[in-house]
Amino acid sequence: MGGSHDKRPGDGPRIESSDERAVLQDPRPAREGDDYQDELQLLVSVMLSAQSTDAVVNTVTPALFAKYPTAAHYAKSTPEKLGAQIKRVGLWRGKARNIHQTMTRIARDHGGKIPRSREELRELPGVGWKTAGVVVNHAFGTPAFPVDTHVGRVARRLGLTRHEDPDKVERDLSAILPPERWGRGHQLLIWHGRRTCEARKPHCSRCAVRDLCPRRGVKESD
Ligand code: SF4
Repeated sequence: MGGSHDKRPGDGPRIESSDERAVLQDPRPAREGDDYQDELQLLVSVMLSAQSTDAVVNTVTPALFAKYPTAAHYAKSTPEKLGAQIKRVGLWRGKARNIHQTMTRIARDHGGKIPRSREELRELPGVGWKTAGVVVNHAFGTPAFPVDTHVGRVARRLGLTRHEDPDKVERDLSAILPPERWGRGHQLLIWHGRRTCEARKPHCSRCAVRDLCPRRGVKESD
């Protein structure tokens, strides 16, 4: 990789760009636990995953997807009935309402297919920019570097951005890697944030990039 994507937008302690790439190109599998077979199922899985683990989401999705195979099936249901199916998932009431509204719009306005652009997807109830980025990346291979809580935290600690605002973090991270690496970079930062650079107490002593990391903002680690 070369050219403009080798620049580093953060202005804190520097990590050489080759080392940044090493972090983001970790070959280990980063996305796991997803259980979907089409774009509609992917969208519902991502909507359910806010503040819930993949493991919990995967306990409700098989029955949910069997009962609601198309957007029209969701649309014909009610938020209450949907809610009864997903009660094990955090924030289930709001998610049931959003899924019902979103599927109603997909059935009515998009011929039952999810919109292919991130801009259109973000307009759907309960979707938003980050979820839309995850969906277009996985469903359509559209380059996106969506920033969730893990991505933002790890990027700040690594000195890849100074921003809190997810849109600004995404801008910084997108400048580091070429578009074809954004999706992978997103997943790797999530992977690292879930397993090593955890929110409350990062495991710096066993972190593969501890020698390179400025550990910005880290007060306690093991
Ligand atoms: S050294 Fe610590 S703060 Fe830096 S990435 Fe690794 S776990 Fe996170």
